[in-house]
Amino acid sequence: MRPDHAYQELIRLAREETVLASCSDLLEWDEETFMPRGGLENRAEQMALMAGILHDRGSDPRFGDLLGRVEGSDLVADPESPAAVNVRELRREYERERRLPKALVEESARVATMAAQAWVDAREARDFTPFAPWLERIMALARDEADAVGFAETRYDAMLEDYEPGMTTSRVTALLDGLKRDLVPLVAELTTPASVPAHVLRREFPIDRQKLFGEAVASTLGFDLERGRIDVAHHPFCTTLGPGDIRIAVRWHRRNFALGFFVLLHEVGHGLYDQGLDPAHYGAPMGEAPSLGLHESQSRLWENMVGRSLGFWKQFFPRLKNVFHEALHDISLDTFRQVINRVAPGANRGRADEVSYNLHIVIRTELEQAMLSGDLPVRDLPGAWNEAYRRYLGVTPKDDAEGCLQDGHWSEGMIGYFPTYALGNVYAAQLYDRAEKDLGDLEGAFAEGDFSGLLGWLRDRVHRRGQRWSAAELVERATGSPPTPGPLLASLRRRYGRAAAPAVG
Ligand code: ZN
Repeated sequence: MRPDHAYQELIRLAREETVLASCSDLLEWDEETFMPRGGLENRAEQMALMAGILHDRGSDPRFGDLLGRVEGSDLVADPESPAAVNVRELRREYERERRLPKALVEESARVATMAAQAWVDAREARDFTPFAPWLERIMALARDEADAVGFAETRYDAMLEDYEPGMTTSRVTALLDGLKRDLVPLVAELTTPASVPAHVLRREFPIDRQKLFGEAVASTLGFDLERGRIDVAHHPFCTTLGPGDIRIAVRWHRRNFALGFFVLLHEVGHGLYDQGLDPAHYGAPMGEAPSLGLHESQSRLWENMVGRSLGFWKQFFPRLKNVFHEALHDISLDTFRQVINRVAPGANRGRADEVSYNLHIVIRTELEQAMLSGDLPVRDLPGAWNEAYRRYLGVTPKDDAEGCLQDGHWSEGMIGYFPTYALGNVYAAQLYDRAEKDLGDLEGAFAEGDFSGLLGWLRDRVHRRGQRWSAAELVERATGSPPTPGPLLASLRRRYGRAAAPAVG
C-alpha cells in the first residue's frame, strides 16, 4: 500500500474511533446530568463494553502496520506538517494502547463507575472508611497500568503521560515546589480583611435569572449556543460530543452568585477552546488539544484573568445590577470587585480563591504520588490530608466530607490528573501576559464588551494548533519562554495587591 493511501486509511480509522469515543462521552454526559440512580449498574456495563471495543480498535495491529507504511515516507518529512503530527501522535497513542491488557481496561472502567457511586455514598455519610477499599483497588489498577505501559523514572510518570504528554514527575515537582514556596507566605499576605462585605453575594439571586444572565455573558465572550448547550449537573464539566456539539454543565446556587457564575466562566473557557479546534481535523490529533493542562489554561484564563478583571465588570456590572436589582442596588462596582477578588484560604478546592487554589493542588499531587508509590497507605489518607491542610493553608477540615472525600477524581480512577490544574494556571498567566503585550489594553476592550481580540489571539496561538506541539512547547512558542511559576506569581501579586485597595478613578 502506498504511503498516501495508508495515511488516508489511518485517518479514517482514527476518526471512526473518535466518533465511537464520543458515544461513550454521551453516555457519561447522561450519567452526570439525567440518569436515574437505578441506571447505574447497566451504565457500568455499557461503559466497560465501550471501553473494551475502543481498546480493541485502538490496539488493532492493523494500526501499527499502517503507521509503519507512512513513517519515514515523504509525507511526514516536515515534522510540523499536519500529516507528520497526526502520525507521531497516533503512534504514541497506539503504543500506549497496545501495551494495556484488555482485561485491565475493562476492569478499570467497571471499577471507576462503581467506585464513583461508593464515593458519593461515603461522602454523604461523611466517612472515608467504606471508600478506602475502592481507593486501594484504584491505586492497584493504576500501578498495573503504569507497569504495562512503562515509564522513565517512576510510575507516576506513566500516569502524567495520559493527561499531560511530555510532562514528567520531576518537572511537575519543580513547578509545584516553586509555587508552594511563594504561595504559602503570599496567601497569608493577601488574605482579605473582614471589612470587605463578602456576604452581599449570599443574598437572593433567583436561579432562572442567573441562567439567563450567564447565557448572555457566555455568548458575548464568543461561546456559540448554536453549537453548544449549557445544562445543570451536580459536578460541573464541559465535554465535546462532536465539532458542533459542545456540552457545558454547571450548577447554580440561589444564595451564592459567585460560585455558580465563575464555574460557568470556567466551563465556557473550556468550551471556547473546543469550539476553536479546527473542524477539518476532527477525529485526528491536529483537531485535538495536546493536554488537559493546556485545556485548563483556557478555562482559568477566562474565569480569572478575564472574569475577575475591572474591565470585564465595567461592561457587565450595570447589566448585573439591573437583573438582580434587589440584591445589588446598594453595591458599587468597586465593592463588587473587591468581593469577587476576595482571598480567604479554606478547606475546599472548588470554592478556593485564585491565590490559595494551587496549594490545594500541591496537596493532592503529593498525596496521590505517595499513595501510588505505597509510601502512604490508603487507610492513612484522612490524617495525612488534614495534616497537609494545616501546614500549607492553616485550616483543618471538620470531617472526611470536607477533607479527603471532597473531590471525585480518584474515585473515577483519575490519578495524575490534579497537577494539570496547576499547570493550567501557570500556562494561563503566561499566555495572558503575552496576549496583553501583543494586543495592548485588553481591559479597555473588555469594558467596551469586546472580547474578540483576545479570543482571536487564542484561536491563532492555541486552539488552531491542535497537537502540533506538546503543551509546554506550545506555551514556549507562544510566549517566548518555557512554563515557569514566575508570571503566575507576579500576576497574582499585581492583581490581588490591587484588589485589596480601593480603585482609583
Ligand atoms: Zn477545568
